[in-house]
Amino acid sequence: MEKELIAPCGMNCGICKFYYREKNRCPGCRSEDENKSKSVRECIVINCDVIKKNHAEFCFECSSIPCKRLKNLDKRYRTKNHMSMLENLACIKEQGIDSFLEKEKQKWKCPKCGGMVICHGGTCLQCGFEKFSN
Ligand SMILES: [Zn+2]
Repeated sequence: MEKELIAPCGMNCGICKFYYREKNRCPGCRSEDENKSKSVRECIVINCDVIKKNHAEFCFECSSIPCKRLKNLDKRYRTKNHMSMLENLACIKEQGIDSFLEKEKQKWKCPKCGGMVICHGGTCLQCGFEKFSN
């Protein structure tokens, strides 16, 4: 888990399927790399003026948090991908990035093999274990 992989919206690129795919691998939301996935290049948060022009590091530095865009994103991820941007942001703001990264490490660790669980689908990259299935 690396600091640089935490996007302004609170997304952890280190648990994203695009970060691990072999073809057209996405280097992460914060990367300047042109190879970023289309959804990142067109991301409403990455292209938000507060982030882009005012150089805010995270959305909680913005006075209109949570904006409609962030709320929608958060809802989608809470429903489908076992995580919440707003919760992540609150954690980073209140407890600091290091503490957040430590929590993420535990949350996304495969209990079976110690591998990495991906938020999209909630399965382990190495053994396919479904961490969040009931
Ligand atoms: Zn595993």
